[in-house]
Parts: sequence; C-alpha cells; structure tokens
Amino acid sequence: MFKRLLIANRGEIALRIIRACRELGISPVCVHSVADADGPWLEWADERVCIGPGPSADSYLRIDRIIAAAECTNADAIHPGYGFLAENAEFAAICRDCEIDFVGPSPEAMALLGDKVSCKRMARKAGTPVFPGTEGEIEELDEALEVAEEIGYPVIVKAAAGGGGRGMRIVSNPEELGDAVESAAQEASAAFGNGSVYVEKYLEKARHFEVQCIGDGRGDAIHLYERDCTSQRRHQKLVEEAPAPNIDPAKRDEVCASAARLIASAQYGGAATVEFLMDHEQNFYMLEVNTRVQVEHPVTEMITGVDIVREQIQVASGMPLSVKQEDISVSGHAIECRINAEDPDRNFMPQAGLIQTFDPPGGLGVRLDSHARSDYRIPPNYDSMIGKLIVHAPTRERAIERMLEALRQFRIGPMKTTISLHRRLLDRPEYRSAHFDIKWVERWLESEA
Ligand code: ADP
Repeated sequence: MFKRLLIANRGEIALRIIRACRELGISPVCVHSVADADGPWLEWADERVCIGPGPSADSYLRIDRIIAAAECTNADAIHPGYGFLAENAEFAAICRDCEIDFVGPSPEAMALLGDKVSCKRMARKAGTPVFPGTEGEIEELDEALEVAEEIGYPVIVKAAAGGGGRGMRIVSNPEELGDAVESAAQEASAAFGNGSVYVEKYLEKARHFEVQCIGDGRGDAIHLYERDCTSQRRHQKLVEEAPAPNIDPAKRDEVCASAARLIASAQYGGAATVEFLMDHEQNFYMLEVNTRVQVEHPVTEMITGVDIVREQIQVASGMPLSVKQEDISVSGHAIECRINAEDPDRNFMPQAGLIQTFDPPGGLGVRLDSHARSDYRIPPNYDSMIGKLIVHAPTRERAIERMLEALRQFRIGPMKTTISLHRRLLDRPEYRSAHFDIKWVERWLESEA
C-alpha cells in the first residue's frame, strides 16, 4: 500500500480522500492555491504545498507544479478527485512516466472511454445499449443525412471529444443538418483540438440513469448498481438517489451488467460511471463514461456499504477488488442534495464570502460531506458547491422525509444556498412520484417565475 498520497484537488472531495487515506494508514498531502490557503480541509493533511494563485489554470490545472509537489513531498501516488485534471489522459501518462501511481485508469483506458466515438464502439461490442446513429465520426454529409433519415428527427450532433455540453447541436430537420455538423465541428476543434463529430437520435423526454462500476485494471469489473440523477438544472445535477425509483428490476440488472462488461473490456482500473438516458418505455441508451469518482458517489456507498474511494486507492496500489459481484446487494434508499452557495431566487447567482453560521443537521442515517464551517470564507474562484447532504433510510418515502427534516435543520448564513430550493423540490409531486424527466426542474422553476 502507498505511504503518501497527494491530493490534486480541493474542497469536499479533498476531505473525502483524506478520510479514506487515514483509514488505510496512508499519509495525505494536499496541494492548494493561494485563494484556498484557509481551506479547512488542509488542516487534516500531513503536509500542504501551495502551487499557485487562485485561477485554476495557474494552480489546480498546472501539471508541472503538481508533479513537483509530489516529488518534493515523496508522494507515491496522486488522487485527482473529480473535475480539474481527473479525466486528463496526458496527466495520467505523465504521472506514470514520473513513476507516481495515478489513482484512476491507465491513460489508454481513459482515452478509449473518454472519446465518445471509440467508447460507443466498445459499448456496442460489450452489449451496452447505445443511441442509434452514425457508426463512427461523420466523414460525408450524405452519410449523416441518410442515417438521420433512418433514425428519424430530431437528432443530435455531438463531438467525439465533447465535454461540458460543448460541441452539441440538436437538429429537427434535414435542412439544418449540414450547418449543425459544420458549426459543431468548428466548436469542437476550437475547444478540444479535435473536430470529429457524430450523429445520434435525440431523446426528448428522458431520465438520467447511471451505473457505478469499479474495474480491477486486469479485465475484471463489478457494478454497484445505479443512481438516478434526473433532477437537474441546465445539465447540472441537483439531487441524486439510489436505487433508481420505478424501474423494472430485470431491465435494471441487465443494463448494470452490461455497464460492468464495458468497463471490464477496457481493462479499466478504478471507479467509472456509465451514464444512460432512459425513455418512458424504459429503453436505455448510453450517454458517456466518466472515468473518475463522481460527486454523487455517496448515495451508492450508503446502499451498498462499499467505500468507493477506498476501492479506488486499493486498485491503484495493485490490490484486487475487495468485493465480488455476488456479494453486492442493495439495502434501503439514499438521496443526496447538493448544497450550493447560490441564490435560487436570483437566477442561482453564486454567493462568495464569509460563512458566519454553519449549523449542520445530524441523526440516524444523515451524512454530510462538506469542507465548510463557520468563519470559512468561500473563495470566488471555484464552483459553488459547499457540501453534499446525504440521507439513508429503509424506503424512498422515508428517505424523503428524513432529508426534508435534515434540510430544515441545516442553517447556513448569511449567504443564500440551495437548501430552500431542495426543501420545495423534494415536496413536489413530480419528485415524490418519480414521474419526471431531466427538464422537469426547469419547467417547474419557469412556471413559478
Ligand atoms: P458532455 O460530455 O458535454 O456533458 P453528454 O454526452 O454527457 O456530454 O451530454 C450532455 C447532456 O446533453 C446530457 O446530460 C443530455 O441532457 C444531453 N444529451 C446528450 N445526448 C443526448 C441525446 N442523444 N438525446 C437527448 N439528450 C442528449
């Protein structure tokens, strides 16, 4: 097992990784920016290294400085968390060249699954359901027109290297397809240095369903069942839960197993999430694979009892998976609410500044993953998530009640947070009945505006 592990991240996920390190007897080291010098999580690290000013491009995204910090502190591994460099195959390759273990997949597996065209190709082979569409990237417009005609409009043009919703165009008729392909390719080549685009069916009313997998890096992988992340706003997840409500158990088992086969076939090591959209007839279509630990991993930990970050670190150190597929079962229901320092009444305006009151809830089945506390000043440089409130209860109904009371008892001030929004969201009939789709929160908020 590693002796020292450097955490190339910040905030709640840095704290989450520190906790996993301690349980494994590993000494955690943190890098941080000048803007994060007062980050409460840094207190719990054995060593801290400042790697540059506030803007991420000058600190958390600086591969040279992070590697130098790892060398100076004698770290034998780097955990990238999520965001920043977590899905950067070049970073994973540089770590390997410097003989530092990267807590994540090999650069090859990351690149294979990170490219949406090659990922889709592998998914077809593994029997993972994908959207109908072009076989690979578009070379001739005629071919794209033909495929679009066959699958029917609307279709979506997507970038192979896409991320953050860039390089996507929804097309509702053949007249628009040529321009959409051209402009998506241009945007993708400017943003990712790769202008390949492909076409697939566009699903209008869908639920977001994702499968948590862990691979051992040697061709074996397990899944820890699914999460539902249908409650989103502008493609940002707000509430996640596990297991997914109202799903045919046989279909769910089939799609979960197919996700694990895909991860296994990539010789993937570590945690991965295979994301799907699901239509109203419970047909599944793969969206993409995230090659890292996800923000919403705790709901899966609560229902399966598997410590995902611990597994990641163990696999990276060369150990086998500590659980077998047949040992994994689902117990109860878990919900996570992302607590963002944003004002839901003013178009989710970010709220930086000093937290004066931070009074978190507790009690049976309540978990808080947060780096925040009172007297912590939220820097303006990073995303606005200041914590994740997670509850676990025997049933979905009881989890909703438990979450509502936990939210009621959570006091943060003076800044506005998404707590007030969550209290209303969880009480909506769409949420309570789980008859919802990924646009439901936006429709609800618009109807009230
Ligand atoms: P990115 O990597 O840029 O986030 P994704 O492939 O995850 O791209 O897609 C981002 C979002 O775009 C999805 O969460 C979904 O809301 C929408 N989307 C992507 N592909 C489709 C599709 N075929 N049909 C409907 N919506 C889609």
